Amino acid sequence: MASTYDLVVVGAGPAGSMAARAAAYYGLSVLVIEQKQIVGFPSHCAGGILTSILNKIGIFPIVKKAICSKISKMRFISPMGTIVHHNFSRNIGYIVDRPKFDQLLIKDAQKRGAEIRTSTRAIGLKKENNQFTQIIIKSHGTIQTIYSKIIIGADGIASNIAKWAGLIIPRNYIGIGFGYNAENIKGISSDTVEIYFLSAVPGGYCWIFPRGINSANIGVGGYNTGSYMKKVFNWFRNKHPFASPKLKNCKLTNYTGGIVPGSKIPAKTTFNYGMIVGDACNHVDPLTGEGIRLALICGDLAGKIAAYAIQKNDLSLIHTYHKLMRKHTLLELYTGYFFRHFLLRANATDYECLIRAISKVNLNLIFQNRKWIPLFLQGLLKTPSILKIMKNISRLPPTIKIDLAHNFY
Ligand SMILES: Cc1cc2nc3c(=O)[nH]c(=O)nc-3n(C[C@H](O)[C@H](O)[C@H](O)COP(=O)(O)OP(=O)(O)OC[C@H]3O[C@@H](n4cnc5c(N)ncnc54)[C@H](O)[C@@H]3O)c2cc1C
Repeated sequence: MASTYDLVVVGAGPAGSMAARAAAYYGLSVLVIEQKQIVGFPSHCAGGILTSILNKIGIFPIVKKAICSKISKMRFISPMGTIVHHNFSRNIGYIVDRPKFDQLLIKDAQKRGAEIRTSTRAIGLKKENNQFTQIIIKSHGTIQTIYSKIIIGADGIASNIAKWAGLIIPRNYIGIGFGYNAENIKGISSDTVEIYFLSAVPGGYCWIFPRGINSANIGVGGYNTGSYMKKVFNWFRNKHPFASPKLKNCKLTNYTGGIVPGSKIPAKTTFNYGMIVGDACNHVDPLTGEGIRLALICGDLAGKIAAYAIQKNDLSLIHTYHKLMRKHTLLELYTGYFFRHFLLRANATDYECLIRAISKVNLNLIFQNRKWIPLFLQGLLKTPSILKIMKNISRLPPTIKIDLAHNFY
């Protein structure tokens, strides 16, 4: 086994695998280091990919075996119990089995020539002539040094690569997701995603993501503590007037909770010579908590840029990643930060108005193309009262910390 590579990728999540498969395709010698024994397992994700990204980025045939259900309908439930049903009359995305999804992606990277070492953790970076050229890894108690021309940190929210390389990653907004895969659920459709807004979870929501017949990932995500989210989850499952009849007697199988980065992308995402991608770089929609899509896009981009820099024999070219990555993500992420500002301050009445606006707009604009601004303008035209509500709530402090005695509605 070699100990010198063109590219070492730390982390075999969607961001790391996409980077590895892109770079290996262009002939780079690539090593992926993954601390888990089994790629993707255990999972911290609900597996919703509600966009056309799998086709757009060309990986649908590779990951199709991980698809649990095809989504063509969405149901939004307001804190006051108003239900809005959207029938898209065609597929808008998928719920995938995350462990299988990650395993299929890394297998494809391997097919293209990338090497993978599981049960192996990066424990440090070392510099030579002012460049990070060495990654210290630990596997089954043995410490080894690996040399690499380029390093990609795809090591998730707790990214050490960014830290060791001296990059500052903002972490002022940390979302918490508390969820499970569950069986024996009543009254759900395998093509319908259900989103429940609660005033007890400002800036977040509860979800039922179908994983086939009578089975789903269920959970709650938002900006509060894990123990608080657990309480909301139990209430959602056992007491919510619409959700509990479906969920009360379900069997919880795998826990899929975790931390969701919700802060802005860092001012610097490259170093000499490396790049940071995915959760490590806050590539998550701050409104929905979706991170798979941007992890795929930015991972692919980072892998291609690494290949370009090696082919041109100019490692400084990797710094173009920062500019290109921002071009792909900035509008979407900043629109999310803008709307989250309001959702963090919203009460049950505000959510009611939001739900009414949702019932009148063309949601295809986001689920196909993430066009938030035309969607917002459409909502504003059809429900002008939204503007007044936004003006009022923008003056309020965010309700991130909530008294547990709070009425969950
Ligand atoms: C509860 C919850 C539900 C979610 N649901 C959705 C959803 O429905 N749809 C969606 O789009 N997004 C969802 N997300 C977000 C999504 O899971 C992440 O954005 C996505 O996994 C990011 O991919 P990544 O490759 O950047 O990081 P990860 O998938 O976290 O992969 C990072 C990998 O790096 C490895 N690693 C870390 N440190 C080291 C080290 N030192 N050495 C070696 N390996 C290391 C880890 O073991 C891990 O495998 C959810 C998140 C949570 C918490």
